[in-house]
Amino acid sequence: MNVKNIITSLETKHPGEKEYLQAVHEVLESIETIYNENPQYEAAKIIERLVEPDRILTFRISWTDDEGQVHVNLGHRVQFNNAIGPYKGGIRLHPSVNLSILKFLGFEQIFKNALTTLPMGGGKGGSDFNPKGKSDSEIMRFCQAFMLELWRVIGPSTDVPAGDIGTGGREIGYMYGMYKKLKLENEGVFTGKGLNWGGSLIRPEATGFGATYFTKEMLKINNDNFEGKTVCVSGFGNVAWGVALKVTELGGKVITISGPDGYIYDEKGLDADKIDYLLDLRASNNDIVKPYIDEFPEAKFVAGKKPWEVKCDIAMPSAIQNELNGDDAKTLIANGVKYISEVSNMGCTPEAVEAFHNAKLFFGPGKAVNAGGVGVSGLEMSQNAMKLNWTEEEVDAKLHQIMSSIHVACLKYGKQEDGYIDYVKGANIAGFIKVADAMLDLGIT
Ligand code: NDP
Repeated sequence: MNVKNIITSLETKHPGEKEYLQAVHEVLESIETIYNENPQYEAAKIIERLVEPDRILTFRISWTDDEGQVHVNLGHRVQFNNAIGPYKGGIRLHPSVNLSILKFLGFEQIFKNALTTLPMGGGKGGSDFNPKGKSDSEIMRFCQAFMLELWRVIGPSTDVPAGDIGTGGREIGYMYGMYKKLKLENEGVFTGKGLNWGGSLIRPEATGFGATYFTKEMLKINNDNFEGKTVCVSGFGNVAWGVALKVTELGGKVITISGPDGYIYDEKGLDADKIDYLLDLRASNNDIVKPYIDEFPEAKFVAGKKPWEVKCDIAMPSAIQNELNGDDAKTLIANGVKYISEVSNMGCTPEAVEAFHNAKLFFGPGKAVNAGGVGVSGLEMSQNAMKLNWTEEEVDAKLHQIMSSIHVACLKYGKQEDGYIDYVKGANIAGFIKVADAMLDLGIT
């Protein structure tokens, strides 16, 4: 394999798909050596078959707002690879959604899902619909219209969607409700469902909790722990609140959260009460900044900036792709950061990752760090199939086990000659070998 040639050919075929090309480039660079040492991969054209999705469904979504105005959005489902199990990946609802972003997310998902040790393939879906500022009934009408197309291609053994940016429990409820109406079957085709209708305990917290457990493992091999550590978190969505909660529980101090317009700096750190307060604000669709600053005057809002300028021991980007760039990385390094856990998918740009590697810091990539979300989704699928529910303790113990086995896989394949652990390489190689070997066993399809 020649990475440069493959990327050049993909650029010609898919011009302008920069996020997708970025994700493919990162994986291919990590696996180049192992790929070339195993000629059976090249003989079966594993890379050429892996970098193109099995199929993409694109569809129009028409829906009506509360004033009776008709709106049209575009929806997609990228079914990337099902070598080790049904396509599995979330649905993103955000105005920035396009095929490049969904293909990057679907591609990453293949390896992330493989790392969880559970039988799940990779996929992703979404729409350029903006849920911000919409009423409940507008969200419902949109989700129902979205599902009127998507239901044809999903199923519990075919393709199992879940949440992502803009898609939480409410949206999954509306989508699954329409799916059931159309399909006349009560099968667990979504994960992230409500507890009353087939969901799993711990699923809402799973990505954030899992990311914190992974970070705990990174600290542990350095004989370190969260106690007293300052932690900068970005975003305050589905994922970031779970991070904030678990880090706080383990003795860390979360000193920032953020949104697209700036960040909140709270020197005293979040605590369980503050997190509950923020979640209430978020659930009622309120702006969180002003009420938070009014309620906790020790906190301040820094408009138009990112939290990476704040001195911290651990950085956990938890908002959106490419949210931490090379300059942010330099600032964090200059301020003495020691661990970086990428909770968002591709949250750090290649320049940032390179800077962390050059500084020999502990950098956990998204596909390893945030795999706890899909891990517990896999557990939700198992519970649905068995028609039983595990307790909170059982799910949490399994999540712990999944995250520490991902950490072990990263060490196995990422340990360098000088002892430095390249977690990016480790995660990519471990995920790739599992999928590639399954593809070899399954023949040319
Ligand atoms: P949410 O939509 O729930 O939260 C996103 C958060 O990021 C919000 O607080 C949002 O603020 C903020 N945000 C959005 N854009 C920006 C920006 N440009 N700069 C700073 N903050 C921004 O999404 P999730 O929490 O579900 O997802 C966050 C990340 O985690 C994504 O990369 C996602 O792919 C990844 N992920 C999610 C999983 C899940 O289980 N949900 C699983 C694995 C990964 P505001 O609300 O004000 O716009």
